[in-house]
Amino acid sequence: MAEQASAWVTLAHKIGASVLTAHVDDVDRASRFPRESIDALRAEKFLGLFIPKELGGGGASLADLTGVCHALGQYCASTGMVYAMHQIQIACMMRHYKGAEFFAGYLRECAKDELLIASATTELGPQGNTRMSSCALEYDGDEVKLEKNTPVISYGLEADGILVTSRRTVDSPPSDQAATLVKKSQYTLEKTMEWDTLGMRGTCSHGFMFRGKAHKSQVLATPFAEVSQQTMLPVAHTTWTSLWSGIAVDAVNRARAFVRAEARRQPGVTPPSALRLAETMNTLHLLRANVMDGIREYERVMDDSEALSGLGFAIRMNNLKVSTTQLTPQVVGQALAVCGIAGYKSNTKFSLGRHLRDAHGGALMVANDRILGTNSNLLLVYKDE
Ligand SMILES: Cc1cc2nc3c(=O)[nH]c(=O)nc-3n(C[C@H](O)[C@H](O)[C@H](O)COP(=O)(O)OP(=O)(O)OC[C@H]3O[C@@H](n4cnc5c(N)ncnc54)[C@H](O)[C@@H]3O)c2cc1C
Repeated sequence: MAEQASAWVTLAHKIGASVLTAHVDDVDRASRFPRESIDALRAEKFLGLFIPKELGGGGASLADLTGVCHALGQYCASTGMVYAMHQIQIACMMRHYKGAEFFAGYLRECAKDELLIASATTELGPQGNTRMSSCALEYDGDEVKLEKNTPVISYGLEADGILVTSRRTVDSPPSDQAATLVKKSQYTLEKTMEWDTLGMRGTCSHGFMFRGKAHKSQVLATPFAEVSQQTMLPVAHTTWTSLWSGIAVDAVNRARAFVRAEARRQPGVTPPSALRLAETMNTLHLLRANVMDGIREYERVMDDSEALSGLGFAIRMNNLKVSTTQLTPQVVGQALAVCGIAGYKSNTKFSLGRHLRDAHGGALMVANDRILGTNSNLLLVYKDE
C-alpha cells in the first residue's frame, strides 16, 4: 500500500524479511520468545526509537513507530506485539514523567542499553478492566512494596523492567491507580499459568505472581487515569492496529501470489479466485484506511491534553481497536477462501493458519465487548457527531 516509508520502516522490512521470517514458524510452534528477532531489532537501536533525542533515543514520530509495527506484523505478529507493548510502556513514561529525575535517567538508560519493558495492567479479580486495581502500593519510608497476581505479562521473563499498575496507596479506591516502573533486579516472578494459546504464541504471556520493591521516585506522579486515556490506550490502539493490519497485508500478499500462480498456469484466462481476491483487497483497503485515519487523528491531538481527554477522542480510539480486530480476521478468512487447501495446509508458501490464529487475539486483548460497553456509556453523554 502506498504509505510513505521512513528509513526506520524500510529497515524494519529488511530485518523482517530476513530474521523474523527465518524464525517465525519455530517461534509459533514452540511458543517461544522471538529472541533472534528482538536481538536484531536491538542491534539497530529499534527499542529506543520512540524516546526523544535529548534523552538519547531515536526521536521517531508516531507515524514511524506505527509504520515499524505494521512492517513487523507482516513477518512475525508475536515479534510485532512484543515490540508494540514495549513502546507503549516507553510512551507512558516519556509523556508523563514531567521532569522527574528518576524517569529522565531511566529513559536515558533504556535508550543507551536498549532495555525491554513489559506491562502488568491486567490483574486477577478486576481481570480485563485495566482502570481498576485490587493490589496497592505499600509505603515504608522511601520504599514501596507491591504484590500483584497477574494472569498475563507478555515476555515477563525476558523483560528488563515492568510498568505495573496498582492502587496508589492501600487506602485508595480501586480506580485511584498509579503506574510504577520496577527494574528486573527489584522483582521476582513466580509463574502461575503457562502461555499455551491459539495464537500470538511467541509473546510468552505467562501468568505470574509479581512481587517487587522500588524507590518511591519510581512511581509516576501523573494519575494512571490520565496516563491511560492520553497515552496508553491511544498508543496501544494505533500500534496494535498497525501490526494486526500487517497480518492482514501478508495474508493478502499470499492470496495474490496464489492467484498469480493460477493465472500463469492458464495464460489468457482470469482464474475464478481473482474475483475473491478483488473482494479481499477491498476489505483490506477499508481496514488500512481506518488504521491510517486513527493514527492521523492521534497525531493531530497528541499535544492537546484537552482533546486527548475528550469523549470524542476516546470513542474514536475505541472504535479503531474494535473495527480493526473485526476486519483483520475477516481479511485473513477471505484470503484463505482464495488460497483454498493450499492456505489451509501448514506447510505451503500460501499457509494462513498462523495468520488466522494470531488475528483472533486482537478481539480479546481488552475484550471488544468491554470496549463497546464503555462506548455505549460515553455515547449517552457525547453530543457531537
Ligand atoms: C496476546 C496477548 C497479550 C497480552 N499481554 C498482556 C500484558 O503484557 N499485560 C497485561 O496486563 N495484560 C495482557 N493481556 C491481557 C489483555 O490485555 C486482557 O486484559 C485480557 O486478555 C482480558 O482477559 P479476559 O478475556 O479474561 O477478561 P475480561 O475482559 O474480563 O473478559 C471476559 C469476558 O467477559 C466479557 N466482559 C467483561 N466485561 C465486560 C463488560 N463490561 N461488558 C461486556 N462484556 C464484558 C468479555 O467480552 C469476555 O467475553 C494480553 C492478552 C493477549 C491476548
